[in-house]
Amino acid sequence: MADLQNVIIIGSGPAGLTAALYSARANLRPLLIEGLEAGGQLMLTTMVENWPGYRDGIMGPDLMAEMRAQAERFGAQMIHGNVAKVDVCSTPFLVETTDAHYRTKAVIIATGASAKLLGLPAERQLMGHGVSTCATCDGYFFRGHDIAVVGGGDSAMEEALFLTKFASKVTLVHRRDTLRASKIMQEKARANPKIVWMLDSQVTEIRDSGKGEVRSMLVRHNKTGALTEVAVSGVFVAIGHTPNTSLFRGQLELDANGYVVTHDGTTTSVPGVFAGGDVQDHVYRQAVTAAGSGCMAALDAEHYLEHIPEHLQAV
Ligand code: NAP
Repeated sequence: MADLQNVIIIGSGPAGLTAALYSARANLRPLLIEGLEAGGQLMLTTMVENWPGYRDGIMGPDLMAEMRAQAERFGAQMIHGNVAKVDVCSTPFLVETTDAHYRTKAVIIATGASAKLLGLPAERQLMGHGVSTCATCDGYFFRGHDIAVVGGGDSAMEEALFLTKFASKVTLVHRRDTLRASKIMQEKARANPKIVWMLDSQVTEIRDSGKGEVRSMLVRHNKTGALTEVAVSGVFVAIGHTPNTSLFRGQLELDANGYVVTHDGTTTSVPGVFAGGDVQDHVYRQAVTAAGSGCMAALDAEHYLEHIPEHLQAV
């Protein structure tokens, strides 16, 4: 039978690695299972300028390597691989990867969220070659170009505004004639002369230049059905995120959008299971807030383990 772990952390973004650092320093010998996208969303970022303590900024992957090394220095054990199954319906909890299975007294969920896509075939083929879900990561590559942002929420406004620093023109395509974004963000975007609007419209095709680069997009007006080909070299998809919670569906309370519901800090609906980072936060979604809630999850898990029933104490 597999050894009984104190705490297994699922996910290796800022939340997971901070949870690993704190629980390692609390002598809990945490096991962290990295997931398929080790390091999380910051691995897709270039310069991170809002991580406190680095006044000149730090590259996203470098920041994650530092966090990982820091957690390892205090004894956190990192497991390469992806969690295939979790059972938190009875204790000890079970966590299975494709190669191994583990029993654990506590679980910290830090599986993050993934950007939603439009579902167009070219979207995946051209991802990183003109199609992007991260303006902060890729905006710099579009200096002087005409580009597009898809979406009508705060993220789309924020990305469009940010991209006007680089692009000559940003076409904002939104499927309805009213925006979902907050008034203040709408006003800022509407006041920016570099942003042009295609409302009530949907991108139906992203066209390749033949060299593996974006050449244009085809936009259909939802009311008239008219198709317009717009020449762009970049398409930024900003239509929201999906929390990575499929492993926990039916076992933990999730909100209507699938985010893990937490209360009293990072406690989920199952005692002994904690959640930190974007998997439970659809509002702030910052590396530093994810790290903060990862720290909280480790402290909450530590407190839980100190008060755990006797029969679960024996390893
Ligand atoms: P969101 O509010 O869910 O907006 C997603 C947008 O994408 C909506 O306008 C939606 O259209 C559109 N959309 C969704 N699926 C689509 C599809 N398949 N095809 C075309 N369009 C599609 O997501 P978000 O903008 O990422 O924001 C998430 C949360 O973070 C919100 O609470 C937001 O306020 C917050 N946030 C705040 C800030 C800030 O304050 N600075 C910045 C970013 C995010 P419909 O409107 O028609 O549904």
